[in-house]
Amino acid sequence: MQIESQTTETTPVSVTPTPRNFFALTLGDLETLFKSSGKEKFRAQQIYKWIYDKNVTDPDQMSNLSKDFRIELKNMIRFDLPNVVKHLKSKDGTQKFLFDVGDGKTVESVVIPAEDRQTLCISSEVGCNMACKFCFTGKQKLQKRLTADQIVGQFLQVQRAMPEGHRLTNIVFMGMGEPLDNSDEVFKAIEILNSPWGTNFSRRRVTVSTSGIVPEMHKIWENKTRLAVSLNGYDDDSRTSIMPINKKYPLKDLLKACEVYAKETGERVTFEYVLLKGITDQLEHAEKLFHLTKHIPCKINIIPFNEHPGSGFERPSDSQVMKFQQLLIGKGAHVLLRRTMGRDIFAACGQLRSEFESHPQQMDTSNSKLIRTLHLKSNSLSSHT
Ligand code: SF4
Repeated sequence: MQIESQTTETTPVSVTPTPRNFFALTLGDLETLFKSSGKEKFRAQQIYKWIYDKNVTDPDQMSNLSKDFRIELKNMIRFDLPNVVKHLKSKDGTQKFLFDVGDGKTVESVVIPAEDRQTLCISSEVGCNMACKFCFTGKQKLQKRLTADQIVGQFLQVQRAMPEGHRLTNIVFMGMGEPLDNSDEVFKAIEILNSPWGTNFSRRRVTVSTSGIVPEMHKIWENKTRLAVSLNGYDDDSRTSIMPINKKYPLKDLLKACEVYAKETGERVTFEYVLLKGITDQLEHAEKLFHLTKHIPCKINIIPFNEHPGSGFERPSDSQVMKFQQLLIGKGAHVLLRRTMGRDIFAACGQLRSEFESHPQQMDTSNSKLIRTLHLKSNSLSSHT
């Protein structure tokens, strides 16, 4: 029997790679991408300039690119920013933005105005696994870690919404999520924002606030950003009772990392300390807090607890807050009292998101109507208190 050899003709299948999101690409990433497609390296700077300098995201409007290259660019890269689904303005000037980050999830960013600065409080995760007991976001388990483009996107969208001539001056990673639980994406976003071909946002004006993931903390000083630590306890027992992370990384290790930061950078650590009535607000607690931190160059941000429904904690009286602050000042500590802001715009971090995701139809109503519906008491701006 003769066996005939058979040849099967196959049609080559061209696989078009999924376009990558420009806002997740560092300048180096973009240069590599262009190089791998046979393009000149300087194209990366050109595109960065169009996007960040000239605010042009449509390749068809990038007039110094050839027509062919514009077509190729659209196949290689998409320019997607997270959509703003809600923008609330407080009477005191605080603004809150709610962003769609896909999969039906949203995150919040807050602009906190002051005389000489406009600070953006940015989110790094949807929900958070750190489960700090006083935190609204901590009650919502981690659902999603944001990608660098979603972090950069919060900044760019908020900056675009600012009135002409106003600029964001500072960024604090104190929104939803633990930034060191998503450190690769967080520091990539900081690198993109810091690029001289991008927004050129100074790293020294970026503060990363952590609940204390000690093994990741070196990235803060290696990336030349500022460190804030959500301390909230005057000894291990008090801290562990409200911040479970302290079991894994106790104060001895956390404070050692803070010392290294101060030594490496010559900067002060910011310790955030939430005052919970009867739990962390007593004068003997202030004494212990002083002794705990006195050997570290630092400032202590004391934050009277901002009540939210179901928290189980109470805010101390103003007089107790003053006594606590005065005791620390009397001992020579550098102390700041965080002002309450944004009371009328779902100020507990994660609260606007939670309300939007449970009752999106209600969010079409005016701020004031919605706020009355909820009988809001809460006024915290930050998860990392
Ligand atoms: S305070 Fe920060 S780290 Fe703690 S649960 Fe809230 S978001 Fe997470």
